[in-house]
Amino acid sequence: MPNVLLLPGDGIGQEIVPEAAKAVRAVGERFQVDFRFQEALVGGAAYDDCGDPLPEETLRLCKESDAIILGAIGGPKWEQLPVHLRPEMGALLPLRKKLELYANIRPAVLYPGLIDASPLKPEVVDGLDLVVVRELTGGLYFGTKKREVVDDEEQAVDTLVYNTGEIVRIGRLAFQMAQKRRKKLTSVDKANVLASGRLWREVITELGKEYPDVELEHMYVDNCSMQLVRKPTQFDVIVTENTFGDILTDEASVLTGSIGMLASASIGGDVGLYEPSHGSAPDIAGQQKANPLATILSAAMMLELSFNMPEAARSIEDAVRHVVEEGYRTPDLMQSGGKEVTTADMGDLVAEYILKG
Ligand code: NAD
Repeated sequence: MPNVLLLPGDGIGQEIVPEAAKAVRAVGERFQVDFRFQEALVGGAAYDDCGDPLPEETLRLCKESDAIILGAIGGPKWEQLPVHLRPEMGALLPLRKKLELYANIRPAVLYPGLIDASPLKPEVVDGLDLVVVRELTGGLYFGTKKREVVDDEEQAVDTLVYNTGEIVRIGRLAFQMAQKRRKKLTSVDKANVLASGRLWREVITELGKEYPDVELEHMYVDNCSMQLVRKPTQFDVIVTENTFGDILTDEASVLTGSIGMLASASIGGDVGLYEPSHGSAPDIAGQQKANPLATILSAAMMLELSFNMPEAARSIEDAVRHVVEEGYRTPDLMQSGGKEVTTADMGDLVAEYILKG
Protein backbone atom coordinates (compact mmCIF):
# COMPACT_ATOMS: atom_id res chain seq x y z
CA MET A 1 0.00 0.00 0.00
CA PRO A 2 1.50 3.35 -1.10
CA ASN A 3 2.83 5.42 1.77
CA VAL A 4 2.68 9.18 1.12
CA LEU A 5 4.35 11.71 3.39
CA LEU A 6 2.71 15.15 3.49
CA LEU A 7 5.01 18.08 4.26
CA PRO A 8 2.76 21.16 4.19
CA GLY A 9 5.56 23.50 5.32
CA ASP A 10 4.80 27.20 5.67
CA GLY A 11 2.37 29.87 4.46
CA ILE A 12 -0.09 28.61 1.85
CA GLY A 13 1.59 25.17 2.04
CA GLN A 14 -0.76 24.54 4.99
CA GLU A 15 -3.78 25.18 2.77
CA ILE A 16 -2.79 23.56 -0.54
CA VAL A 17 -1.31 20.25 0.62
CA PRO A 18 -4.60 19.07 2.21
CA GLU A 19 -6.28 19.69 -1.17
CA ALA A 20 -3.70 17.50 -2.95
CA ALA A 21 -4.29 14.80 -0.33
CA LYS A 22 -8.04 15.12 -1.03
CA ALA A 23 -7.42 14.45 -4.73
CA VAL A 24 -5.22 11.42 -3.96
CA ARG A 25 -7.88 10.06 -1.58
CA ALA A 26 -10.48 10.42 -4.33
CA VAL A 27 -8.16 8.54 -6.71
CA GLY A 28 -7.77 5.86 -4.05
CA GLU A 29 -11.52 5.48 -3.82
CA ARG A 30 -12.03 5.39 -7.57
CA PHE A 31 -9.16 3.03 -8.37
CA GLN A 32 -9.40 0.95 -5.16
CA VAL A 33 -5.94 1.83 -3.85
CA ASP A 34 -5.36 2.18 -0.14
CA PHE A 35 -3.07 5.22 0.14
CA ARG A 36 -1.59 5.80 3.59
CA PHE A 37 -0.75 9.36 4.65
CA GLN A 38 1.63 10.63 7.28
CA GLU A 39 2.49 14.23 7.99
CA ALA A 40 5.62 15.96 9.28
CA LEU A 41 7.00 19.42 9.94
CA VAL A 42 9.51 21.11 7.65
CA GLY A 43 10.82 24.64 7.08
CA GLY A 44 9.86 27.54 9.35
CA ALA A 45 7.13 25.47 11.04
CA ALA A 46 9.75 22.88 12.02
CA TYR A 47 12.20 25.56 13.15
CA ASP A 48 9.52 27.06 15.41
CA ASP A 49 8.78 23.64 16.84
CA CYS A 50 12.30 22.35 17.53
CA GLY A 51 14.89 24.84 16.23
CA ASP A 52 15.71 22.79 13.11
CA PRO A 53 14.11 23.38 9.66
CA LEU A 54 14.78 19.75 8.71
CA PRO A 55 14.40 17.66 11.89
CA GLU A 56 15.86 14.15 12.02
CA GLU A 57 12.35 12.75 12.51
CA THR A 58 11.14 14.41 9.29
CA LEU A 59 14.12 13.10 7.35
CA ARG A 60 13.51 9.61 8.70
CA LEU A 61 9.84 9.73 7.66
CA CYS A 62 10.89 11.01 4.21
CA LYS A 63 13.24 8.07 3.71
CA GLU A 64 10.64 5.57 4.90
CA SER A 65 7.89 6.90 2.64
CA ASP A 66 7.24 5.96 -1.00
CA ALA A 67 6.69 9.56 -2.10
CA ILE A 68 6.49 13.04 -0.60
CA ILE A 69 4.10 15.90 -1.31
CA LEU A 70 5.63 19.19 -0.20
CA GLY A 71 3.74 22.51 -0.02
CA ALA A 72 6.22 25.36 0.25
CA ILE A 73 8.60 26.67 2.83
CA GLY A 74 9.92 30.00 4.03
CA GLY A 75 8.54 33.42 4.79
CA PRO A 76 9.51 36.79 6.26
CA LYS A 77 9.38 35.45 9.83
CA TRP A 78 12.51 33.33 9.25
CA GLU A 79 14.48 35.56 6.87
CA GLN A 80 16.76 36.96 9.56
CA LEU A 81 17.97 33.57 10.74
CA PRO A 82 21.55 32.43 10.00
CA VAL A 83 21.72 30.92 6.50
CA HIS A 84 21.93 27.27 7.62
CA LEU A 85 18.72 27.65 9.66
CA ARG A 86 16.69 29.45 7.01
CA PRO A 87 13.97 27.19 5.67
CA GLU A 88 15.17 27.15 2.03
CA MET A 89 18.88 26.60 2.70
CA GLY A 90 18.42 24.56 5.86
CA ALA A 91 15.65 22.28 4.60
CA LEU A 92 14.94 22.32 0.87
CA LEU A 93 18.46 21.98 -0.55
CA PRO A 94 19.63 19.37 2.01
CA LEU A 95 16.41 17.42 1.48
CA ARG A 96 16.99 17.26 -2.30
CA LYS A 97 20.61 16.25 -1.74
CA LYS A 98 19.93 13.65 0.95
CA LEU A 99 17.21 12.02 -1.15
CA GLU A 100 19.51 12.09 -4.24
CA LEU A 101 16.96 13.90 -6.35
CA TYR A 102 19.06 14.57 -9.45
CA ALA A 103 16.23 15.30 -11.87
CA ASN A 104 13.67 18.06 -11.72
CA ILE A 105 10.71 17.68 -14.02
CA ARG A 106 8.47 20.62 -14.75
CA PRO A 107 5.65 20.39 -17.24
CA ALA A 108 4.27 23.57 -18.77
CA VAL A 109 0.77 22.90 -20.05
CA LEU A 110 -1.71 25.52 -21.14
CA TYR A 111 -5.24 24.61 -20.17
CA PRO A 112 -7.68 25.80 -22.84
CA GLY A 113 -9.79 27.64 -20.25
CA LEU A 114 -6.76 29.79 -19.32
CA ILE A 115 -5.55 30.84 -22.74
CA ASP A 116 -6.22 34.53 -22.03
CA ALA A 117 -4.14 34.39 -18.84
CA SER A 118 -0.93 33.69 -20.82
CA PRO A 119 1.25 36.70 -21.66
CA LEU A 120 1.66 35.31 -25.21
CA LYS A 121 -0.88 35.71 -27.99
CA PRO A 122 -3.45 32.87 -28.03
CA GLU A 123 -2.37 31.71 -31.51
CA VAL A 124 1.26 31.38 -30.33
CA VAL A 125 0.60 29.54 -27.10
CA ASP A 126 -2.47 27.46 -28.00
CA GLY A 127 -1.66 23.76 -27.58
CA LEU A 128 1.41 24.32 -25.36
CA ASP A 129 2.36 21.04 -23.70
CA LEU A 130 6.04 20.65 -22.88
CA VAL A 131 8.22 19.24 -20.12
CA VAL A 132 11.60 20.51 -18.98
CA VAL A 133 13.92 17.92 -17.48
CA ARG A 134 16.57 19.77 -15.47
CA GLU A 135 19.71 18.22 -13.99
CA LEU A 136 19.48 19.16 -10.31
CA THR A 137 22.57 18.08 -8.39
CA GLY A 138 25.53 18.97 -10.63
CA GLY A 139 27.00 21.87 -12.58
CA LEU A 140 27.67 25.40 -11.46
CA TYR A 141 25.60 25.29 -8.28
CA PHE A 142 27.54 22.37 -6.83
CA GLY A 143 31.06 22.91 -8.27
CA THR A 144 33.95 24.30 -6.20
CA LYS A 145 33.55 27.96 -5.29
CA LYS A 146 36.33 30.33 -4.39
CA ARG A 147 36.71 33.94 -3.47
CA GLU A 148 40.12 35.58 -3.24
CA VAL A 149 42.07 38.75 -3.87
CA VAL A 150 44.09 38.68 -7.09
CA ASP A 151 46.21 41.71 -8.07
CA ASP A 152 44.45 43.81 -5.43
CA GLU A 153 41.03 42.95 -6.80
CA GLU A 154 38.29 40.74 -5.40
CA GLN A 155 37.77 37.70 -7.55
CA ALA A 156 35.04 35.06 -7.33
CA VAL A 157 35.11 31.69 -9.06
CA ASP A 158 32.32 29.16 -9.61
CA THR A 159 33.19 25.88 -11.30
CA LEU A 160 30.97 24.23 -13.89
CA VAL A 161 31.65 20.50 -13.78
CA TYR A 162 29.78 17.61 -15.38
CA ASN A 163 30.92 14.04 -15.82
CA THR A 164 29.66 11.44 -18.28
CA GLY A 165 27.68 9.51 -15.64
CA GLU A 166 25.70 12.57 -14.58
CA ILE A 167 24.80 13.38 -18.18
CA VAL A 168 23.88 9.79 -19.04
CA ARG A 169 21.48 9.37 -16.10
CA ILE A 170 19.56 12.60 -16.76
CA GLY A 171 19.67 11.98 -20.53
CA ARG A 172 18.23 8.49 -20.14
CA LEU A 173 15.38 9.81 -18.05
CA ALA A 174 14.61 12.47 -20.65
CA PHE A 175 14.68 10.01 -23.59
CA GLN A 176 12.35 7.68 -21.70
CA MET A 177 9.99 10.55 -20.96
CA ALA A 178 9.98 11.54 -24.65
CA GLN A 179 9.20 7.93 -25.59
CA LYS A 180 6.01 8.15 -23.51
CA ARG A 181 5.03 11.48 -25.07
CA ARG A 182 5.39 12.86 -28.60
CA LYS A 183 8.87 11.34 -29.07
CA LYS A 184 10.84 14.54 -29.53
CA LEU A 185 13.77 15.55 -27.33
CA THR A 186 15.54 18.90 -27.43
CA SER A 187 18.89 18.87 -25.64
CA VAL A 188 19.95 22.36 -24.63
CA ASP A 189 23.58 23.35 -24.07
CA LYS A 190 26.19 25.97 -24.88
CA ALA A 191 28.52 23.65 -26.76
CA ASN A 192 29.85 26.49 -28.91
CA VAL A 193 31.51 28.09 -25.87
CA LEU A 194 31.69 25.69 -22.91
CA ALA A 195 33.76 22.51 -22.61
CA SER A 196 31.06 21.03 -20.36
CA GLY A 197 28.53 21.85 -23.10
CA ARG A 198 30.59 19.92 -25.66
CA LEU A 199 30.75 16.87 -23.39
CA TRP A 200 27.01 17.22 -22.77
CA ARG A 201 26.29 17.21 -26.51
CA GLU A 202 28.63 14.27 -27.25
CA VAL A 203 27.13 12.12 -24.49
CA ILE A 204 23.50 12.91 -25.40
CA THR A 205 24.22 12.24 -29.10
CA GLU A 206 25.75 8.85 -28.26
CA LEU A 207 22.86 8.00 -25.93
CA GLY A 208 20.39 8.92 -28.67
CA LYS A 209 21.52 5.84 -30.64
CA GLU A 210 19.79 3.72 -27.97
CA TYR A 211 16.50 5.55 -28.57
CA PRO A 212 16.03 5.55 -32.36
CA ASP A 213 12.29 6.16 -31.95
CA VAL A 214 12.98 9.57 -30.37
CA GLU A 215 13.78 12.51 -32.62
CA LEU A 216 16.77 14.26 -31.02
CA GLU A 217 17.71 17.86 -31.69
CA HIS A 218 20.38 20.04 -30.06
CA MET A 219 19.81 23.70 -29.34
CA TYR A 220 21.98 26.42 -27.82
CA VAL A 221 20.49 27.84 -24.66
CA ASP A 222 20.23 31.40 -26.00
CA ASN A 223 18.26 30.18 -29.00
CA CYS A 224 16.07 27.99 -26.78
CA SER A 225 15.12 30.93 -24.57
CA MET A 226 14.08 32.82 -27.70
CA GLN A 227 12.19 29.86 -29.21
CA LEU A 228 10.22 29.43 -25.99
CA VAL A 229 8.49 32.74 -26.56
CA ARG A 230 8.54 32.67 -30.37
CA LYS A 231 7.08 29.19 -30.92
CA PRO A 232 6.76 27.26 -27.65
CA THR A 233 4.56 24.57 -29.17
CA GLN A 234 7.56 23.20 -31.14
CA PHE A 235 8.85 21.56 -27.91
CA ASP A 236 7.93 18.22 -26.41
CA VAL A 237 10.69 17.33 -23.89
CA ILE A 238 13.63 19.63 -23.17
CA VAL A 239 16.66 18.30 -21.27
CA THR A 240 19.32 20.59 -19.89
CA GLU A 241 21.90 21.18 -17.18
CA ASN A 242 21.26 22.77 -13.80
CA THR A 243 21.74 26.51 -14.35
CA PHE A 244 20.16 26.66 -17.82
CA GLY A 245 17.27 24.55 -16.48
CA ASP A 246 16.73 26.93 -13.58
CA ILE A 247 16.27 29.84 -15.98
CA LEU A 248 14.38 28.05 -18.76
CA THR A 249 11.85 26.46 -16.37
CA ASP A 250 10.90 29.88 -15.02
CA GLU A 251 10.55 31.19 -18.55
CA ALA A 252 8.44 28.21 -19.61
CA SER A 253 6.30 28.46 -16.51
CA VAL A 254 5.13 32.00 -17.14
CA LEU A 255 3.69 30.91 -20.52
CA THR A 256 0.92 28.96 -18.79
CA GLY A 257 -0.81 31.92 -17.19
CA SER A 258 -0.45 31.48 -13.44
CA ILE A 259 2.27 30.29 -11.14
CA GLY A 260 -0.51 28.57 -9.24
CA MET A 261 -0.86 25.99 -12.07
CA LEU A 262 2.73 24.71 -12.19
CA ALA A 263 3.52 21.28 -10.89
CA SER A 264 6.97 19.80 -10.41
CA ALA A 265 8.64 16.52 -9.52
CA SER A 266 12.13 15.92 -8.23
CA ILE A 267 13.17 12.34 -8.73
CA GLY A 268 16.21 10.10 -9.04
CA GLY A 269 16.59 8.47 -5.62
CA ASP A 270 14.31 5.93 -3.96
CA VAL A 271 11.70 8.51 -2.94
CA GLY A 272 10.22 11.17 -5.24
CA LEU A 273 9.42 14.69 -4.04
CA TYR A 274 6.40 16.42 -5.57
CA GLU A 275 5.80 20.12 -5.05
CA PRO A 276 4.31 23.16 -6.76
CA SER A 277 6.80 25.48 -8.44
CA HIS A 278 5.72 28.48 -6.37
CA GLY A 279 6.69 29.55 -2.86
CA SER A 280 4.77 30.00 0.38
CA ALA A 281 3.00 33.22 -0.76
CA PRO A 282 2.97 34.95 2.64
CA ASP A 283 0.88 37.79 1.15
CA ILE A 284 -2.19 35.54 0.81
CA ALA A 285 -1.46 32.85 3.42
CA GLY A 286 -4.27 31.87 5.79
CA GLN A 287 -6.96 33.47 3.63
CA GLN A 288 -8.10 30.52 1.50
CA LYS A 289 -7.08 32.46 -1.63
CA ALA A 290 -4.27 30.15 -2.77
CA ASN A 291 -4.66 28.16 -5.94
CA PRO A 292 -4.16 24.48 -4.99
CA LEU A 293 -4.04 23.19 -8.60
CA ALA A 294 -0.22 23.17 -8.93
CA THR A 295 0.01 20.95 -5.85
CA ILE A 296 -2.86 18.76 -7.04
CA LEU A 297 -1.13 18.39 -10.44
CA SER A 298 2.12 17.55 -8.63
CA ALA A 299 0.21 14.73 -6.92
CA ALA A 300 -0.79 13.52 -10.41
CA MET A 301 2.92 13.41 -11.31
CA MET A 302 3.50 11.37 -8.15
CA LEU A 303 0.91 8.81 -9.26
CA GLU A 304 2.59 8.45 -12.64
CA LEU A 305 6.28 8.62 -11.70
CA SER A 306 6.41 7.04 -8.24
CA PHE A 307 3.44 4.65 -8.39
CA ASN A 308 3.23 3.87 -12.10
CA MET A 309 -0.48 4.74 -12.17
CA PRO A 310 -0.79 6.73 -15.43
CA GLU A 311 -4.55 6.26 -15.64
CA ALA A 312 -5.00 7.66 -12.13
CA ALA A 313 -2.70 10.57 -12.99
CA ARG A 314 -4.85 11.33 -16.09
CA SER A 315 -7.98 11.27 -13.91
CA ILE A 316 -6.56 14.14 -11.83
CA GLU A 317 -5.45 16.09 -14.91
CA ASP A 318 -8.85 15.61 -16.53
CA ALA A 319 -10.57 16.82 -13.35
CA VAL A 320 -8.39 19.95 -13.25
CA ARG A 321 -9.11 20.65 -16.94
CA HIS A 322 -12.80 20.18 -16.29
CA VAL A 323 -13.08 22.56 -13.30
CA VAL A 324 -11.07 25.23 -15.14
CA GLU A 325 -13.26 24.87 -18.25
CA GLU A 326 -16.36 25.11 -16.04
CA GLY A 327 -15.11 28.56 -15.04
CA TYR A 328 -14.12 27.89 -11.42
CA ARG A 329 -11.31 30.22 -10.41
CA THR A 330 -9.22 31.00 -7.35
CA PRO A 331 -8.48 34.76 -7.25
CA ASP A 332 -5.13 34.43 -9.13
CA LEU A 333 -6.98 33.04 -12.18
CA MET A 334 -10.06 35.22 -11.91
CA GLN A 335 -11.36 36.69 -15.18
CA SER A 336 -14.69 38.31 -15.88
CA GLY A 337 -17.44 35.71 -15.91
CA GLY A 338 -15.43 33.32 -13.72
CA LYS A 339 -16.88 31.71 -10.59
CA GLU A 340 -14.63 32.60 -7.67
CA VAL A 341 -13.93 29.79 -5.21
CA THR A 342 -11.75 29.25 -2.15
CA THR A 343 -8.75 26.93 -1.94
CA ALA A 344 -10.83 24.23 -0.24
CA ASP A 345 -13.75 24.63 -2.69
CA MET A 346 -11.36 24.10 -5.59
CA GLY A 347 -10.01 20.94 -3.94
CA ASP A 348 -13.57 19.68 -3.38
CA LEU A 349 -14.52 20.32 -7.01
CA VAL A 350 -11.48 18.42 -8.32
CA ALA A 351 -12.08 15.50 -5.92
CA GLU A 352 -15.76 15.37 -6.89
CA TYR A 353 -14.90 15.19 -10.58
CA ILE A 354 -12.24 12.51 -10.02
CA LEU A 355 -14.87 10.39 -8.31
CA LYS A 356 -17.45 10.97 -11.06
CA GLY A 357 -14.90 10.15 -13.76
P1 NAD B 1 5.88 33.05 -4.11
O1 NAD B 1 5.86 32.05 -5.20
O2 NAD B 1 5.59 32.55 -2.74
O3 NAD B 1 4.84 34.23 -4.45
C1 NAD B 1 4.95 35.06 -5.60
C2 NAD B 1 3.57 35.65 -5.93
O4 NAD B 1 2.76 34.62 -6.49
C3 NAD B 1 2.81 36.17 -4.72
O5 NAD B 1 2.09 37.30 -5.09
C4 NAD B 1 1.87 35.05 -4.35
O6 NAD B 1 0.68 35.48 -3.72
C5 NAD B 1 1.58 34.43 -5.73
N1 NAD B 1 1.33 32.99 -5.60
C6 NAD B 1 2.24 32.02 -5.40
N2 NAD B 1 1.65 30.83 -5.34
C7 NAD B 1 0.33 31.04 -5.49
C8 NAD B 1 -0.81 30.19 -5.51
N3 NAD B 1 -0.73 28.87 -5.35
N4 NAD B 1 -2.02 30.75 -5.68
C9 NAD B 1 -2.14 32.06 -5.85
N5 NAD B 1 -1.11 32.93 -5.87
C10 NAD B 1 0.12 32.42 -5.68
O7 NAD B 1 7.31 33.75 -4.17
P2 NAD B 1 7.97 34.81 -3.17
O8 NAD B 1 6.94 35.77 -2.69
O9 NAD B 1 9.18 35.27 -3.87
O10 NAD B 1 8.45 33.92 -1.92
C11 NAD B 1 7.73 33.79 -0.70
C12 NAD B 1 8.48 32.81 0.20
O11 NAD B 1 8.48 31.50 -0.40
C13 NAD B 1 9.94 33.18 0.41
O12 NAD B 1 10.28 32.90 1.74
C14 NAD B 1 10.67 32.26 -0.55
O13 NAD B 1 11.99 32.02 -0.15
C15 NAD B 1 9.82 31.03 -0.45
N6 NAD B 1 9.94 30.12 -1.63
C16 NAD B 1 9.85 28.78 -1.36
C17 NAD B 1 9.88 27.88 -2.40
C18 NAD B 1 9.73 26.42 -2.10
O14 NAD B 1 9.31 26.08 -1.02
N7 NAD B 1 10.02 25.55 -3.04
C19 NAD B 1 9.99 28.34 -3.73
C20 NAD B 1 10.05 29.72 -3.97
C21 NAD B 1 10.00 30.62 -2.90
